[in-house]
Amino acid sequence: MTRKQKKMLWRIIITAAMLIALHFIPITGIMRLAAYLVVYAVIGSDILRKAGKGIVNGRPFDENFLMALATLGAFFLAVWTKSGDYVEGIAVMLFYQIGELFQSCAVGRSRRDISALMDIRPDYANIETDGRLEQVDPGEVAVGSVIVVQPGEKVPIDGVIVEGEASLNTSALTGESLPRDVKAGDGIVSGCIDMNGVLKIRTTREFGESTASKILDLVENAGSRKSRSEALISRFARVYTPAVCLAALALAIAVPLVRMACGAAANWPDWIYRALTFLVVSCPCALVISIPLSFFAGVGGASREGVLIKGSNYLEALSETKYVVFDKTGTLTQGVFEVTGVHHSALEDAKLLEYAALAECASSHPISKSLQKAYGGEIDRSRVSDIGEISGHGVTAVVDGHTVAAGNTKLMHRLGIEPIECRSAGTVIHMAIDGKYAGHIVISDVPKPHAAEAVAALKKCGVKKTVMLTGDAQRVADEVAAGLGVDEVRAELLPADKVAEVEKLLAAKGEKEKLAFVGDGINDAPVLTRADIGIAMGAMGSDAAIEAADVVLMDDDPKRIVKAIRISRKCIGIVKQNIVFSLIVKFGCLALVAAGLANMWAAIFADVGVMILAVLNAIRALRYKE
Ligand code: ADP
Ligand code: MG
Repeated sequence: MTRKQKKMLWRIIITAAMLIALHFIPITGIMRLAAYLVVYAVIGSDILRKAGKGIVNGRPFDENFLMALATLGAFFLAVWTKSGDYVEGIAVMLFYQIGELFQSCAVGRSRRDISALMDIRPDYANIETDGRLEQVDPGEVAVGSVIVVQPGEKVPIDGVIVEGEASLNTSALTGESLPRDVKAGDGIVSGCIDMNGVLKIRTTREFGESTASKILDLVENAGSRKSRSEALISRFARVYTPAVCLAALALAIAVPLVRMACGAAANWPDWIYRALTFLVVSCPCALVISIPLSFFAGVGGASREGVLIKGSNYLEALSETKYVVFDKTGTLTQGVFEVTGVHHSALEDAKLLEYAALAECASSHPISKSLQKAYGGEIDRSRVSDIGEISGHGVTAVVDGHTVAAGNTKLMHRLGIEPIECRSAGTVIHMAIDGKYAGHIVISDVPKPHAAEAVAALKKCGVKKTVMLTGDAQRVADEVAAGLGVDEVRAELLPADKVAEVEKLLAAKGEKEKLAFVGDGINDAPVLTRADIGIAMGAMGSDAAIEAADVVLMDDDPKRIVKAIRISRKCIGIVKQNIVFSLIVKFGCLALVAAGLANMWAAIFADVGVMILAVLNAIRALRYKE
């Protein structure tokens, strides 16, 4: 409990004790009223203050105003009818405060739960100076420094391992429980926990730009993008509160006047009491509190499963996903190519590969990385100049004074060169040197281990169509698609064609059906933004993709998409249950009160009860089971 919550608890206890004591002290008249007003002030002073502030700021119709008006009204009625029943106004305030306290504890707890689950915020970084380890603020570590991570410590900053090996626990980042083994030369992201070895890491990012900081930022700010349900509720409240106040006014004034006109007794106190009770019931706190809490819990629950959702609006969209469009390379396939052959080479095979690797030295495409790895030698960038990358085609560069082009058939045609077609399975990189065809390198990629399973699971959870878009050759695309069970394939697309294809699909689908595009951001960042939901690969994906995307899969496993959809559906389901449940109870109570069948006690019990149930229900969104 925080200090504020403890203080509240004390106020509640003192109020209850004073009420019991006053029950046994036989004071009457003005002294009795004064005594009860003191108790009222103990429990309700902050509500009165907030209500006053609301009026001053020109926004009077909030729950504080309703509570203040109703409880003060109850006092007024007790004085007017000389009943001396001052307990009611205080009790209503008391229960309201108990409800508020409960809710603030529940919200605080689930927020803490989420932060604990996302226990990735590093507190310090170790720097070795003169053989001694020194703990420093990770924000002060410059890019390129060497930091030391010891067994049991969190990796504070992204970097590359320069020395040591260890098993990493990545579960806070990816939801993956199996440890990952790393050694010198491997990249490492912040937020992982080193389980056994000492690692020396050369940092490649600043602390603020590192994975752990980015994720925490995302989760903490997810609430700022409001979903449709949330927007609906605030619109609803804007109409609802004044409407309720008008209805209460009608009950208090119009009904007695009409009765008088008809010759019946006006019965003012009775109708004013009903109107005040009406105000107590009308307060929509269960909705106002539980809906944002459900979304917050949903985003938190998803992040525990390795899926980062950037706002509650995407949670809502995800739950309506009916079309899933995939990029091929790096999304459904691993994006790690092996060279399987070099054909029709005009030079020695190794020399051709060397030219290819050098020409590719500046590209971040998975193909380029794979060619550089296959070449294996040192890349001397001073041998390369005039590099140009044409997305969806390939690269051109000048290597050792020769113009080199490496890419697909489209690139060759663009340069006016006729390539020799290749019949081997795999992606073909055609090469041209000094404007003449120089052979091709065949590379092949393998599907990710869970890709086929993910496509099947998507179908099973109600996705109507899965589509694969790729810039690769039709033959390769068909082969991959058939192996994975994807419904449709479009191949040989340029980045702009991918946008066009997605736009076609968007135009053909229904209003309530959402389309998700899953990509790694290389040659597809525009599509990520264009789709209803852009899902990016977090580990392999480019920074641009993670920036452009709405949802990020921490470990690049396509199966997480299914999880994300399931979590979002559960969360939206909870929101709907809460809306329906609290509105039914609310309107039921309002009717009972207007009919004179419920008093203020019953009203506040129903109100606090509904709120507690709604909050407990909302917290369920945090837990996800297969
Ligand atoms: P995908 O849609 O499968 O992710 P891309 O749109 O990234 O594929 O690339 C499409 C095609 O363009 C590749 O299959 C390759 O033939 C060619 N290409 C793109 N970038 C490069 C590059 N850096 N080097 C060689 N070829 C490239
Ligand atoms: Mg790609």
